[in-house]
Order: sequence, then structure tokens, then C-alpha cells
Amino acid sequence: MNYETICALATPNGVGALGIIRVSGNEALGIVNRCFEGKNITEVASHTVHYGFIKDGDEQIDEVMVSVFRAPKTFTTENSVEISFHGSPHIARKILEVLMKNGARMAKAGEFTMRAFMNGRIDLSQAEAIADVIASENEASRKVALNQLKGGISNEISVLRGDLLNFTSLIELELDFAEEDVEFADRTAMNMLLNRLEEKLNALMESFQYGNAIKNGVDVAIIGKPNAGKSTLLNALLKEERAIVSDIAGTTRDTIEEILHIKGTAFRFIDTAGIRETTDAIEAIGVQRAKEKIATAKILLYLYDEWDATPEEVIGFVKEFWREDLKVILLHNKIDLSKSNENEFDQILSNALIPEFTTTIIPISAKVQTGIETLKKELSSYVENLKTDESTVITNQRHFEALQKSLQSVRNVKTALTQSFHTELLAYELRYALEHLGEISGEFTNDEVLGNIFSKFCIGK
Ligand code: GDP
Repeated sequence: MNYETICALATPNGVGALGIIRVSGNEALGIVNRCFEGKNITEVASHTVHYGFIKDGDEQIDEVMVSVFRAPKTFTTENSVEISFHGSPHIARKILEVLMKNGARMAKAGEFTMRAFMNGRIDLSQAEAIADVIASENEASRKVALNQLKGGISNEISVLRGDLLNFTSLIELELDFAEEDVEFADRTAMNMLLNRLEEKLNALMESFQYGNAIKNGVDVAIIGKPNAGKSTLLNALLKEERAIVSDIAGTTRDTIEEILHIKGTAFRFIDTAGIRETTDAIEAIGVQRAKEKIATAKILLYLYDEWDATPEEVIGFVKEFWREDLKVILLHNKIDLSKSNENEFDQILSNALIPEFTTTIIPISAKVQTGIETLKKELSSYVENLKTDESTVITNQRHFEALQKSLQSVRNVKTALTQSFHTELLAYELRYALEHLGEISGEFTNDEVLGNIFSKFCIGK
């Protein structure tokens, strides 16, 4: 395709041993060659590296290595050059300037990857996976992102989508012969395919809980009466880990979160900075504040102190807040003060709460740090238990939503089929299903979706 030639810094904008500038487009080789002192790179073989200088007119800017990649076997499928220079932001600017003087323009955010997608080198889910690989902070998210980069989710769906496309063609053909009342498409086989699709889509959707946890972390609410030991517990949990305090943009006020990594998963204790005023909530500010905190959490840690609580109170609390998708862990704190291990209090709790309300009770002492390891194990087992048998893990909200829509439309096709709707209606539902199934890989997409995806990339990606 006849795109303009773009250039951008691909490495972080700061001082480093080396920096890399990427150039891509029809004129990439010619443009770089005009500012390169060394071999004539318009004549060198593809996938070769050359030593020389980048110059601005007669003035040498830096000593560099230039890698030449000729279309179509390149990331963007276009002619591409990578210039490795000494990693100074000033040199980076100078080189970009001289490239632009010679006919390149600055790349927009995500434009290299967008071209790879537009030119059919990768599909949309793979383009998104590139961002995920770069953003991955632990083993689990790296593995999942890499699998997606290799086409994991698209492969899973594209075969089934292909089969559905075949059926659709036959159904459309039937429409052409509407007068003659013929059936080209085998309805039984089609139904079987729809069942397989439904099963696959369900399985992929189920994997999202795990995918979301490893990619985005797990929100944990710590709730308890004043002096139950919440701050002490948090300090004990974060003891070995440096607490990461970050401002989250887009909230009406800055929210502070403290993150604890356990076995590669980020557990986010939200709002802990304000924990004294806010989650002393239950009494001081009231149930509303606690409710808000718990509403967005996946795990609830409820601390109690047997000298300042009754089993009925704790039971009442759990009953009020318990929901299917919330893991409730009751932390019996200050056990260092307990006289015996046989705890009547917890016995009453277990009898009342299990099995109807699936909760776990862990006796701890936040102060002398007993039971903290057990608690950490319990937190990480929460994530382990989300794993499904599915080898492809969905981590992307857009994919999840496309799967949801696909599932709904596959069900509509099934209804149309089993209830012998008019062939035209069946064809209509089939087209919808194909469209939704094609959304993940980007076979069906629109500028708004693309703009949204690529604008989140940084420049040079
Ligand atoms: P918060 O109001 O829930 O955040 O409670 P704090 O963490 O501030 O603790 C209140 C008081 O209880 C402090 O004096 C803590 O030292 C004490 N405390 C917290 N955990 C324990 C524990 O496990 N054992 C004992 N003996 N005291 C504790």
C-alpha cells in the first residue's frame, strides 16, 4: 500500500545505552539512505545490519547501526529500517528531525501496529496482544499475552467461524432457489456446529474471570470496626513488599491503592490510605461507604476482634454483604490474646455461615504476624480456582463483549433453525453471528473501534 513513511522512537524517551528509531513505509530505505553515511542501504539485502553515521547535511549526528528489512517480511509488511543510536534524548530528536527533513513524518500512537493490522500481517486481537505483552508485569500475564500474540483466540474461533460461513453460503444459495423449495444446508450438521460454537464461546467467556484477575489484578476490600486491626494487617501484608502508591486518573478524587503481589497476581487494597476515616465505616460513616467498597471488590477481608464483637454481629454482616461472586474471608484477629485454640466464637460462625454462605475463617494476629501466610495462600488460591481447562485465556474486555454478542447471536441462529424460521430470517441471523464472531479478529470492525484501540498505544509501537 502506498502509505507515507513514518518514523518514531521505539525505546523509552530517556537516557539509555542505546535507543532505537523505527522507520516504515515505501520510502523508508531511500529516506534513511539520504541521511546515512556508510553503505548504500537501498542496495543491501533484506534483514542485514550496517554500520555508519547518521548525518544532517555534512554534519555527523551519531555513530549508528542500521537494520534493513525489505517488504513484505517486516512487522508492518512495508520497507522498514531500525536505527540503533547512542541513547541520548537529544540525539533521538536530532535523528527524527533529519528523517523528517528527508521526507518521513512522525508516527501517530500505535501507527506501526495499525499498519501491521491494516496490511493483514496480524489480526486485531494480535495487535491488542502486542500492547498486553509490553504491559505484562508477571509470568501469568506474559504467557497469556504471548499466546494471544501467536493468534490464540483468533485460531480458536476462526475455524468454527469458517464452518459457519460455509453453512451461510449454502443457506444464501437456498434463497436464490427459493421457488424450488430445496435444502442445500444439512440442518442436523448445522445444529451440531452451533452447539460446538456455543460450547466454545461459553468456555472462552468463562476464562475471562481468570484472565481479568491476572491482567488487571484483584480488588480486595478490608472492612472491620475501628481498632479491629485493619491498618496493622495491611502493614503486615505489605511488610516484605514495598507498597506501590499510585494515583488513578479519571476518578473524581485521587484514589490511593496499595498493591501486594502474591505469586504474580496483583492484589489491590483500595483506598487504604483513607482506611482510618473511611472503613472505620461500619460505625463511623455507615454501611453505605462499606457497601461501595465491597461492591467493586472480588475479595472481602472482614476483621473482627472477639472482645469487641459478637458472632451474631459478624453473621449479620456476612449475610448483608455476601454475594455469589465475592469471596468472603473472615479474619479472627488478635489471637495472640486468646487463651485457647478451641474457639467457641468461630465455631458458632462456621455453623451459621457454612455451607449456605461460603466463607473462610482464618485466625490471625496482625500484630505478631501469625496466620499471615495462610491468608496469602488463601488469596492466591482464589486466583488459582478461577482457572479453567481452556488453554486460551480471555483478558480483554472488548473480546469478552464480542464473545457475549456472538453467543447471543449463535443462540438466535439456533432458535431460527430449530423453530424452522423462514430461510431469509435464518440467513439474517447467520450474518449477524458471523459479524460478531469476526469482531475479535477485526474482520468486522469500524474506525471508532480501531481508533479506540490504537490511540491507547504509545508512539513508536
Ligand atoms: P484499625 O482501626 O482497624 O485500623 O486498627 P489498628 O490496626 O489501628 O489496630 C488497633 C489496635 O489494635 C492497635 O493498638 C493495634 O496495635 C492493635 N492490634 C492490631 N492487631 C493486633 C493483634 O493481632 N494483636 C494485638 N494484641 N493487638 C493488635
